[in-house]
Amino acid sequence: MRQEFQGHGASRGSALGRARVRLPHALEVAEERIGHDQVEAELARLHVAIDTVRNEMHTLRDRLHGALAHEVGEFLDLHTLLLDDPELLHGLDELIRSGHYAADYALRLQRDRIASVFEAMDDAYFRSRVDDIDQVIGRIHAALHRRDHDTSGVAGEILVTDNVAPAELAQLQAQGVMAIVTAAGSTLSHSAILARSLHLPLVVGTAQALLKINDGDALVVDGATGTVILEPNAEDLRSHRTRTRELARERKQLHRLRREPTRTLDGVDIKLYANAESREDVAEAHSLGAAGVGLYRTEFLFLQRNELPDEDEQFRVYRDVVLGMTGRMVTIRTLDLGADKADKTGLALRDEPNPALGVRGVRLSLARDGLLETQLRAILRASGYGPVRILVPMVSSAEEMRRVRELLNRVAADLRRQGQEIADDVPLGAMIEVPAAAIALPGYINTIDFLSIGTNDLVQYLLAVDRNNEALSELYTPLHPAVLRVIRDVIRLAQARGKPVAVCGEMAGDASFAPLLLALGLEEFSLHPATLLELRRAIRSLDLSVLRKRAPALLRARDRAGIEAWLRG
Ligand code: PEP
Ligand code: MG
Repeated sequence: MRQEFQGHGASRGSALGRARVRLPHALEVAEERIGHDQVEAELARLHVAIDTVRNEMHTLRDRLHGALAHEVGEFLDLHTLLLDDPELLHGLDELIRSGHYAADYALRLQRDRIASVFEAMDDAYFRSRVDDIDQVIGRIHAALHRRDHDTSGVAGEILVTDNVAPAELAQLQAQGVMAIVTAAGSTLSHSAILARSLHLPLVVGTAQALLKINDGDALVVDGATGTVILEPNAEDLRSHRTRTRELARERKQLHRLRREPTRTLDGVDIKLYANAESREDVAEAHSLGAAGVGLYRTEFLFLQRNELPDEDEQFRVYRDVVLGMTGRMVTIRTLDLGADKADKTGLALRDEPNPALGVRGVRLSLARDGLLETQLRAILRASGYGPVRILVPMVSSAEEMRRVRELLNRVAADLRRQGQEIADDVPLGAMIEVPAAAIALPGYINTIDFLSIGTNDLVQYLLAVDRNNEALSELYTPLHPAVLRVIRDVIRLAQARGKPVAVCGEMAGDASFAPLLLALGLEEFSLHPATLLELRRAIRSLDLSVLRKRAPALLRARDRAGIEAWLRG
């Protein structure tokens, strides 16, 4: 029967496909016992599920190809090994045979038993293996409940799950997942950012989805509006087709703007830089005429792997970006691991009581021996191939920038002594995303070369609203007088001191906010290439002098409604 769920659109695109439900990793299974005479049947049920999962993983491995095959393959091999682990299998059998537990509850007990052994280990690498145990057990649990029907199809799969980690997105896409629907999550999470980068439609915050959708159901997902339709009717299918056609038409029209300047109606040129996470992003940025890369998030290089990338590996990746932009400026951000970007190497702390306020960004880089030095060496070596700037995330004090600057100078001197070719001038900039960094800016702006305002975190910290907490999504908005004032002050100060300043948070990529940011004085935007042409189209339709005249009224707005009224005007 047709049902409609409303979530939040986190990554645009429309998809029609077959549902694949992945139950939450933490198994919420109530204790359930079985009779003596049911033991053999329960054991058989469990082993059919385990065999199903084993076959799925082998099929998946065979289907992998392309750039991600190696990394994803390692993942799958590890999971296959766990699946054959005698300790796991024997323990499960014992729980059913001697404890007379139902297979579901046996899975949960065995999961908790193994997880407690791993969690007690000192070594962070082993501790992080609990995730893999959860994924394997979760897959067996899902297989136990899968309806007996053919799950292969032509339209691909739409994954319905509780939440999705940034590290698994690329893997899911490689597996053929066409869209993702999550019960939790927010449009500002790093998973959402990565989904946009992969052009993978994503709808978050549809709590009903996990309860109502079953494997094999047909779904229509609209990643722009956040609508999910279960068992679509004829009209839904028609409008899905229309929407897909409209999107294609709009894309074609936008495409014509690739070689046009980003110039306002009154003739002012605005710079559009790209946020990039992958080689594909860089290629897209270049072909759309981005002024350069305004934010290269290096942490994605550290995710989904068990060992840190060494200097040479990092150097080759950064050099690829620089060469890919053929002489346009490339802004490489130093590692911003931590919070929801947890790696598997044990670098970022796990289980911090308050990870958004924890050891993340530059704090982590400065706390781990050699980490920042290796990264700076790699970036500086890449600067021999084209213009590069270095951007530091999560700065909260002048002291942090001073320490990075000292290290940068020392590393540059070392490299020159070693005969390496590096650029004469590699500007060093600060992300302005912690309110303290914005407020204290007059005291240290002379020590930095450029600034980039990270509104994703700035909004979170200014308003004390978790960017990933779906329950607060109504409160999470840049349309707050405090946010606008801080942005305006930072832009004004930077421009008065002749320092380039951009906004690189998701806000910059939303064309509907363009009038507001232009009114606040912004001349440089950094955004994902996916919406670059839309922003260019919006800017080309705006008159900057009119907007600047209206700026005082914007700053007088007392609340969100007032700011929205200004935007409508
Ligand atoms: C930001 O906080 O706005 C930002 C660009 O950084 P990230 O989203 O990677 O935290
Ligand atoms: Mg940030």
